[in-house]
Amino acid sequence: MAEPTGKVLKIIQYGHPTLRVRCDPVTEFTPELKELAEAMFQTMEANEGVGLAASQVDQRIRLLVVNVPKKDSEEVTRVAAVNPEVLEVEGEWEYEEGCLSIPDIRDNVVRPERIKLRYQDLDGEAHELEATGLLSRVFLHEIDHLNGVLFVDYLSPVRRMIHSGKLKRMAKETAEQLGQEA
Ligand code: ZN
Repeated sequence: MAEPTGKVLKIIQYGHPTLRVRCDPVTEFTPELKELAEAMFQTMEANEGVGLAASQVDQRIRLLVVNVPKKDSEEVTRVAAVNPEVLEVEGEWEYEEGCLSIPDIRDNVVRPERIKLRYQDLDGEAHELEATGLLSRVFLHEIDHLNGVLFVDYLSPVRRMIHSGKLKRMAKETAEQLGQEA
């Protein structure tokens, strides 16, 4: 399933069908799962991202990684979350988002300000975590990916219209690439 450790994986782009799939729960916590998570961390970091979902590297399973700086600190929250579930949400705030699978577009999205999550680690151990601010936003963005939802889906018709040329171009390029690979 996973590429060998040490390899930066290809991030699929807007228009790729896997970005619209509801990913399957992980039921087996294998060495391959750990290898995939490690490769996803490397891929995210090589692309200076703060989060990455397995579907973005064309793996249809409920696994995501985040690497988010802590507020007013040098530390980062670096987590691989398997089968993540949102238990509670609170508040809302608007902030600009981007996506490694939609590189040409950034726009504001309203999301809950605080969330409580349940997820399993790479050994299958269950954890609960409370996240606020950017960390909460990144988790929600990546969990959306596992459900086939993209941040551009939240944009108003007017904002989507503004980006429609870029979205169409990306979808066309992706379709052409897939055609060449087939
Ligand atoms: Zn994304």
